[in-house]
Amino acid sequence: MTRKIKTTLLLATCYLLLDSCSNPEPLYQEQILALGALVDISIWGAEPDVARRASTAIAEDFNRIHTTWHAWEASPLTRINETIKSGAAANVDAEMIALIAEAKELSAKSGGLFNPAVGKLIASWGFHSDEPHGPPPDAKTIETLVAAHPSMDALQIEGHTLKSNNPAVQLDFGAIGQGYAVDVAIAHLRKLGIQNAIVNASGDIRVIGKHGGRPWRIGIRDPRGSGIIASVEMQGDESIVTSGTYERFYDYQGKRYHHIIDPRSGYPARGVTSVTVVHSDATTADAASTALLAAGLKGWQKTARDMGVKQVMMIDEQGIVHMDPALTKRIHFEVTPPPKVEIVSAL
Ligand code: AMP
Ligand code: MG
Repeated sequence: MTRKIKTTLLLATCYLLLDSCSNPEPLYQEQILALGALVDISIWGAEPDVARRASTAIAEDFNRIHTTWHAWEASPLTRINETIKSGAAANVDAEMIALIAEAKELSAKSGGLFNPAVGKLIASWGFHSDEPHGPPPDAKTIETLVAAHPSMDALQIEGHTLKSNNPAVQLDFGAIGQGYAVDVAIAHLRKLGIQNAIVNASGDIRVIGKHGGRPWRIGIRDPRGSGIIASVEMQGDESIVTSGTYERFYDYQGKRYHHIIDPRSGYPARGVTSVTVVHSDATTADAASTALLAAGLKGWQKTARDMGVKQVMMIDEQGIVHMDPALTKRIHFEVTPPPKVEIVSAL
């Protein structure tokens, strides 16, 4: 939800591979621009019009979620932020309350490393903008923002109202927005009777079923280039989500600043360039991938354990892959030579 939205939907590439003699697979693929990012939808084995209707429904889901949770353009979320800053109670609809409550829980489990209350820090680093930019904040500003301890614990939910006992809280759901939208989209597909599909929102992916007789195979982006470093075969209903420092960043006076903030220091997290998490739902995987990137090379195992995620792949700034044995069995490296791998148990 930190990315730019177009009010109209751009149905970018729509190609149907059905009924072709050279390619008889009933695979429907469509790419839409929603949440300011490209969303790839693949549906296998459904009637073309059902698949087409499903893609339109998903595009609406993504756009609704984007406009609801936009962190810096006027939105229901920015109105909530204004209200709770003053100590007043904000009226929040059922869908928003449910996600705020889930985020509160995930934040507590992450020990505050996934902390959607740090919107002021994210803004001060120049990421509340369609074009992130410097100058970065000065040390004093960061120190003050961290010392104010913005945290999800400050939020009190009562029925459909939300209050905060800390004016430093500013909510930003950029770290789970796409994962949540992917979960909503898959639930929608299921309701429409679709059993085999992938929804991929710029690397936040959930799959259901299979691709004909074969499992869906998902590529993981190489943080050092635009290609794929590895692939994973997905099993039934599963999500695979990657957070990367390459996704949003800017250079200022020769230094690079990226968008994932370590809430302990207030500075962009160091040591790790990407984290991939495989988990049942995409919302949890999305919160965890951000939290683990913030955790860094020391201590990520405890965060993974506390958040209940077992399958983790982390790529450090030297290109070394740190992986849990649970994922090692499923990963296939697509680069030659394969990267150096350190197996580290999260359990
Ligand atoms: P992701 O790509 O899922 O890791 O999400 C990154 C986005 O989440 C950033 O662009 C910020 O909007 C927000 N963010 C950055 N750091 C944190 C953090 N430690 N906890 C929660 N949200 C964060
Ligand atoms: Mg995330």
